[in-house]
Amino acid sequence: MTADSSIRERNIRERIAAARRELGKDLVVLAHYYQNIDIVRSADFVGDSLQLARIASRQHETRYIVFCAVSFMAEMARILCEPRQKVFHPEPSAKCPLAEMALIDDVEKAWELLTATGRHLMPVVYVNSRADLKAFCGKNGGFVCTSANAKEAMEYVLSRDAIPFFFPDENLGSNTAHAMGIPDNEIFLWDPFHDIPDTGLPDIAGKKAILWKGFCYVHVAFRPSDIEEIKKTHGDISVIVHPECTPDVVNLSDHVGSTSYIKSTIEAAAAGTKWAVGTEVNFVNCLRADNPDKLIIPLRECECRDMSHVTLLKFLTVLENILEGKDQPEVTVDPGDARYARVALERMLAIT
Ligand code: SF4
Repeated sequence: MTADSSIRERNIRERIAAARRELGKDLVVLAHYYQNIDIVRSADFVGDSLQLARIASRQHETRYIVFCAVSFMAEMARILCEPRQKVFHPEPSAKCPLAEMALIDDVEKAWELLTATGRHLMPVVYVNSRADLKAFCGKNGGFVCTSANAKEAMEYVLSRDAIPFFFPDENLGSNTAHAMGIPDNEIFLWDPFHDIPDTGLPDIAGKKAILWKGFCYVHVAFRPSDIEEIKKTHGDISVIVHPECTPDVVNLSDHVGSTSYIKSTIEAAAAGTKWAVGTEVNFVNCLRADNPDKLIIPLRECECRDMSHVTLLKFLTVLENILEGKDQPEVTVDPGDARYARVALERMLAIT
């Protein structure tokens, strides 16, 4: 970083701090763990999707919520907050590519064909999804889940003698199904681009889970060879990965779990332990800064380019626009979608 850019960043940080002081309790800032470390340090609350959904639903006192993450998370805050509250996202074009891999028309078509088989299905949508898919689940007796509670969600569905129709992340679905003892031959993979039959119905006899063929480009970048290399170099290092990684990576790892699980596991570990972390690199950098008594390295440097579209400067602009009373786009969700998405989100919060 040059001297000029360092002065500019310090100036931005000081203006953010000043705006925050002036807005006081009228403002709450939520940030996902994968945000840049400076944004994480400026937030009131930092968490994974589940934690932030819960926190957003409890902000009754505040007037403004600024959500630093990708757009579906800001939409979730909009769905869960009160109508009088204003929700802002510093970069509305920052979308999660995984969330864009399941579109409502394709999901409705799949649902029509799958339910026509006569099997009892229940839709479960990963939180990384558009609001209209969450609404689809709300309307069809299903619910939302996160990587922290996907197993509880699938168990709930099976306990009601139904088959989970899980979208859009195949890897989270496979890893969760495997953890529940469901083998690959009892999983049906729905490929929205190739598997829609022209005639007849999909053969899902004997299947215990139906998964959508979607993926997170950040987490599928980890390879089994990364684990082999790092174990060769560091010997007694523990490998901990996110369940959006592919099953071959998960199978070779020592621990697997959501972002909050990774954080709490490493924080609780003994001083001097060594960790290779298979998830987004900004989060790994924060973990390293917060746990100087341990060796923490990324399993591979994988950054979510979409999360990084939210910058300190865009965050500052939102705060100063609020202070100056300038018009700026609010996060909005179609009221019909919001109503049913809220149903699906509240079902999740009730069972986890
Ligand atoms: S890390 Fe993956 S799932 Fe998370 S926001 Fe980025 S692309 Fe989406």
